[in-house]
Amino acid sequence: MTETFYEVMRRQGITRRSFMKYCSLTATALGLGPAFVPQIAHAMETKPRIPILWLHGLECTCCSESFIRSAHPLAKDVILSMVSLDYDDTIMAAAGTQAEAIVAETIEKYDGNYILAVEGNPPLNQDGMSCIIAGKPFLEQLQHAADHCKAIISWGSCASYGCVQAAAPNPTQATPVHKVIRHKPIIKVPGCPPIAEVMTAVVTYILTFDRMPELDRQGRPKMFYSQRIHDKCYRRPHFDAGQFVESWDDEAARKGYCLYKMGCKGPTT
Ligand code: SF4
Ligand code: SF4
Repeated sequence: MTETFYEVMRRQGITRRSFMKYCSLTATALGLGPAFVPQIAHAMETKPRIPILWLHGLECTCCSESFIRSAHPLAKDVILSMVSLDYDDTIMAAAGTQAEAIVAETIEKYDGNYILAVEGNPPLNQDGMSCIIAGKPFLEQLQHAADHCKAIISWGSCASYGCVQAAAPNPTQATPVHKVIRHKPIIKVPGCPPIAEVMTAVVTYILTFDRMPELDRQGRPKMFYSQRIHDKCYRRPHFDAGQFVESWDDEAARKGYCLYKMGCKGPTT
């Protein structure tokens, strides 16, 4: 039988106290009250863990870097014990044919049950020749892994929107994941890089409630993306009053007026 997340964490040296702390932090991160902490803990203790297969397309790997360097030491330990068990070519020890065998094994063993985390995106130009993994274009690997997964997490702005490598003229035709995979639920977690704890919180949510988290109209988990920088910006009174900076060295800039006309993306970030 597949072990539980709790068993894995204990094996990795995480104490019961830290585990309960993780459940509390996650309940808070998910916008749930303290009453949900026992429910989360119970799910983590009793349900088989959700395997995670983590693939990399065109990207800079800093999404993974940020993950490994998550500010909270507990979060880092928990995150690594939750995701590094199956396949992540950046943080796993295996390489080459051994690593490829693990992908195939994970797909077969957990058919229909694993979360496919995708960092980066597939290039469509030149038959995907800009991103070849184990002799195959990344697109092929992505489509195969997607066919057998439960859901996809588009991890970071590259996977969610295209980001740097999709910038014009986009010679490789780098394309966000949702434009090539249309038959599976996709949870977008944009950010360059995104916040590491969102990954474990989303996986914990799916495990606890047996359903996908509610998404906003851009496909992002609502609980993490419901507030905009614009809502809390200290320049907001100037926005409301119609006081805008028109050039970087004008009087309005010196007075700290709103940067909307200078291209601020706060209203959509
Ligand atoms: S989203 Fe940003 S940090 Fe993540 S892989 Fe892409 S460029 Fe790197
Ligand atoms: S537009 Fe930008 S600078 Fe202006 S209030 Fe919104 S977030 Fe702040």
